[in-house]
Amino acid sequence: MSILYKSTRGNEKLLSASEAIIKGIADDGGLYVPAKFPKLNIDIKDMVDMDYNEVAYNIMKEFFTDFTEDELKVCISKAYDSKFDVQEKAPLKKAGGAYFLELFHGPTIAFKDMALSILPHLLTTAVKKNNMDKDIVILTATSGDTGKAALEGFSDIDGVKIIVFFPEHGVSEVQKLQMKTHKGSNTYVVGIEGNFDDAQNGVKRIFNDDSMKKKLNQNNYAFSSANSINIGRLIPQVVYYFYSYIQLVKEKEINSGEQINVVVPTGNFGNILAGYYAKKMGLPIDKLMCASNENKVLYDFISTGIYDKRRDFVITSSPSMDILISSNLERLLYHISGENTEKINELMNKLKDQGVYEIDDTMKANLKDFLAGYASEQDTHTTIKELYDQEGYVIDTHTAVAYAVWNKKRSLGQIDDKKTVIASTASPYKFPAAVMNAIDNKYKIYDDFRLIKEMSKISGVTIPSAVDDIDKREIVHNKVCDAKDMKNVVCEILHV
Ligand SMILES: *Cc1c(COP(=O)(O)O)cnc(C)c1O
Repeated sequence: MSILYKSTRGNEKLLSASEAIIKGIADDGGLYVPAKFPKLNIDIKDMVDMDYNEVAYNIMKEFFTDFTEDELKVCISKAYDSKFDVQEKAPLKKAGGAYFLELFHGPTIAFKDMALSILPHLLTTAVKKNNMDKDIVILTATSGDTGKAALEGFSDIDGVKIIVFFPEHGVSEVQKLQMKTHKGSNTYVVGIEGNFDDAQNGVKRIFNDDSMKKKLNQNNYAFSSANSINIGRLIPQVVYYFYSYIQLVKEKEINSGEQINVVVPTGNFGNILAGYYAKKMGLPIDKLMCASNENKVLYDFISTGIYDKRRDFVITSSPSMDILISSNLERLLYHISGENTEKINELMNKLKDQGVYEIDDTMKANLKDFLAGYASEQDTHTTIKELYDQEGYVIDTHTAVAYAVWNKKRSLGQIDDKKTVIASTASPYKFPAAVMNAIDNKYKIYDDFRLIKEMSKISGVTIPSAVDDIDKREIVHNKVCDAKDMKNVVCEILHV
């Protein structure tokens, strides 16, 4: 069965997977979605002996139907190799009554690696398949983790330039250094005076700017995106939900077919949407729990059906979730509205013009696959300490938001006792100050680099090479600009 992709806003023709990956975002401003959901063609029981790459192939081939078997397998084996520091790529750790799906064993120690290590290969393969002779410019806004993972993935790839914008004052010290010290002749990193939403809006504006498109075209460039608006990033994330389920079956923690719950610390709604896609494909997931930090716009939305971004932006210790406009929610709205593109246009215009919209009763009813909760900063820090004290297991602040939300719901009896997978989205080594201070405030006096060493001592986990001696690396990117100047900066970098 061949799967085609269409825009959530409906004004475009259907594209093949490779075309949708190249375009990133549709010309009408919508996001590409599969015109229908493929079903998994193989019994879960027959997958228990598969390694990560084999599972990846079996999932991705159902979505990327215009890639040949060979093309897809080459992409997968180039992506998921020794860049990952464990053979399983995404191991499952049982702790605190749940199963932590550790998605941070890639080169930048955050879950973005799961998709961004394969996107460059999908994209360059797609460009070849479509006989495109343009250079691709990847334009990316990051709340901290996408940036480094995209830089890592796209560095020194022929025919590609990558420009990353991040909030200069809205990422952790380690995240900032990871980006500013990144080498790679085709990479550009720019801090902006503004928050992540400003960066993301700036990037979207540049994408939708006709004069920019023309300029790029004249200079033989085409834009694409490494953000989770790109379907080439979303689909690879479906894989690990299957993989985690298969591990549970294999370890005899569940029977094949038994339903599980999944909890995802959420920002841009990409990761949890991938879980929803897994469910749509047939994975036995009961509830998908959306966990927010104090920027709880998604919690409010799922609880009330009203999305309201008109609120203060809070800077928290889980910066990759400090987001008020969750791009991928548009895809969910499309699916739960019965693929009503008119409705999506109406809602997205309301969001743009008034900063708020409310979904209708049918859509609200279709949110039943989701539960929502949020964790305050205090909840998050207490959770890190408790789990460490009980189990010696150190989790990062984002994962802690998810665990705190689930734990609270569980103690209040608001969720059943199905086996639960928690998406563990970053290594604690990425947020050493917040994590160590949560465990013991005696660490307050140390800087991040000392804390990394202390963390290794208390957790017994080897320091990942991603952050080892990061403070001694040379800073190669120093540019900072105003959010409103992003377009000019792009022109300067590309000499257009
Ligand atoms: C990006 C990120 C998230 C949020 O993921 P979304 O797909 O944007 O919802 C959560 N945790 C970490 C560590 C991240 O890097």
